[in-house]
Amino acid sequence: MPKNLSSESLVFAVDLGGTHLRAALVDDTGRILKHLKQETPKGDSAEGIVAALVKAAKSWDCRQQPVVAASIMVPGPVDSEKAVILQAPNLPSLINFPLKAELEQKLGWPVFIENDANAAAVGEMWMGAARGCRDVVSVTLGTGVGGGVIVDGKLWRGSHGSAGEIGHTTVDPFSGLKCKCGNTGCLELFASATAIVRMTREHLSSFPQSKLKLDELTAEKVYEAGQNGDELALAVFNRFGMYLGIGLANLISLIDPQIVVIAGGAVNGWDLFATEMFRQVEERAFRTAAQQVKIARAECGDNAGLLGAARLAFGHD
Ligand SMILES: [Zn+2]
Repeated sequence: MPKNLSSESLVFAVDLGGTHLRAALVDDTGRILKHLKQETPKGDSAEGIVAALVKAAKSWDCRQQPVVAASIMVPGPVDSEKAVILQAPNLPSLINFPLKAELEQKLGWPVFIENDANAAAVGEMWMGAARGCRDVVSVTLGTGVGGGVIVDGKLWRGSHGSAGEIGHTTVDPFSGLKCKCGNTGCLELFASATAIVRMTREHLSSFPQSKLKLDELTAEKVYEAGQNGDELALAVFNRFGMYLGIGLANLISLIDPQIVVIAGGAVNGWDLFATEMFRQVEERAFRTAAQQVKIARAECGDNAGLLGAARLAFGHD
């Protein structure tokens, strides 16, 4: 915990994505006091990203409440001992870059670096759907599928910073579908926004009655069609729910959590995929765990990661 921490203290929390950089000042009760969103600097230079972070941090006048730490979450596994980013396809300039040291030197605050899905799990435990729980799994269904695992109240990072990669667990080895991670049949290939579009495209010819058009497919359009009873969209979300349920059943048998929190943009399709997801979990997960686990939608939305990053910096992980 930062030494000069008081109840008035703030953490400068950042969601450093490949496209957008979101920053917030968060107090130790989980209130977000200020918030900004801008484009992540493009190009190969880590220095450009550092400059943007420093500028954002200094743009807020906080004489009343001191900022005691910065907590940056990044889209990739992090070596938390060395505080370096190990992999980041969307921010390649940051791989093995001394981001912590650079920012500490320029900001004068302790700096924490955390994987984004891990931070989101902590955020949901602090302020969201997993409040009061000690054993939590969070699954983020976005462009890809991310995951975070909390065991006995503590974030479980794994020996090499890559624990909780549920999106890259195999749910269908015979699909022939290759994942960008190198494996075949990963959960991410069936239970992400990208997967909704691909599966719809693949099955269009089998559903000539469908109103969905090949050239304008988005996950949102497929969802809207499903709400209006489009059979292709319903079949796609059913398939999505089936694979998600298989992935969750494996996780639940392995970890026996109190709660699985489902987050990310694709969770908006909940009413179309949840029935099949629950059916698979009930059928496949180890019985004592399956009967008691709660599976719920996330409550913190886009702010889960910012809140979790702040919480980790406050020293409550
Ligand atoms: Zn994969």
